[in-house]
Amino acid sequence: MTAQLELLSARDALGPDPIPDLTAADLIVYSSSGGKDSQVGLDETVRLADAAGVRDRIVVLHCDLGVTPRGHTIEWPGTIDLARRQAEHYGLRLEVRRSAKWASLLHRIRDRGQFPNLFNRYCTAIKRDLSRKFITEQVAALGITRRPAQVVLVLGLRAEESRARATKPAMEIDQRASSGRRTITLWYPVLRWSTAEVWERIRASGVPYHWAYDQGMSRLSCSLCVLASAQDLTCAARLRPELAQEYADQEAEMGAPFRRDLSMAEIIQRAKAAA
Ligand code: SF4
Repeated sequence: MTAQLELLSARDALGPDPIPDLTAADLIVYSSSGGKDSQVGLDETVRLADAAGVRDRIVVLHCDLGVTPRGHTIEWPGTIDLARRQAEHYGLRLEVRRSAKWASLLHRIRDRGQFPNLFNRYCTAIKRDLSRKFITEQVAALGITRRPAQVVLVLGLRAEESRARATKPAMEIDQRASSGRRTITLWYPVLRWSTAEVWERIRASGVPYHWAYDQGMSRLSCSLCVLASAQDLTCAARLRPELAQEYADQEAEMGAPFRRDLSMAEIIQRAKAAA
């Protein structure tokens, strides 16, 4: 009995999540990080958009967090190229956006004088602002004037990844970002997928995935994420020692640790010990 229960995914147990009416969408923006959840979310979005006959309304967006003062990408090397190949696999175009104000997340951290944390995620606000600005541009280009444009913003979030995500509905109106000109529906098509289901679909799709997974990372996005597990951070510091050193020098300069419970200097020590 226990074994049978373990084989049930959250989707099996809870039933299908609601899906927005894609035929009513003027625009479907898929927010891609290039990571595994994002990749499988795109595959599922395309499948459901095809069923509705609206694949041509999808545009894939990647919000890049830039290059540090010493010339290292905040995100994993190869991520933008991979996100482009993933989009092109479905015949979709990839748009890349970066902050006009901050050359990189590390520039923003230096200005702020502390690293982001769970309760002050100003790092994700950079991406959120880029995505809203992108939607504003795209809606203006649609030229819809007599009614609010209907926009579906799709993200490959999964409930397993955090407690906050576990309580999210699979779709909701983004009231803050909606206006008289646009209604934005947030949609998380793989919210209740398990990690096993994600990898199963990736293998079945034949779409390339990021090299960092085969090097030991369990999650992607920023190479050195303040919310990552100590194991992933140690792995990332081993794979990207120069970026880790730049973060360590930044924490020394600010006198504020990367994380209250774990400094970057300590992460580097762990990475060296594990090598
Ligand atoms: S991956 Fe981590 S550090 Fe990067 S923007 Fe997201 S929460 Fe912030």
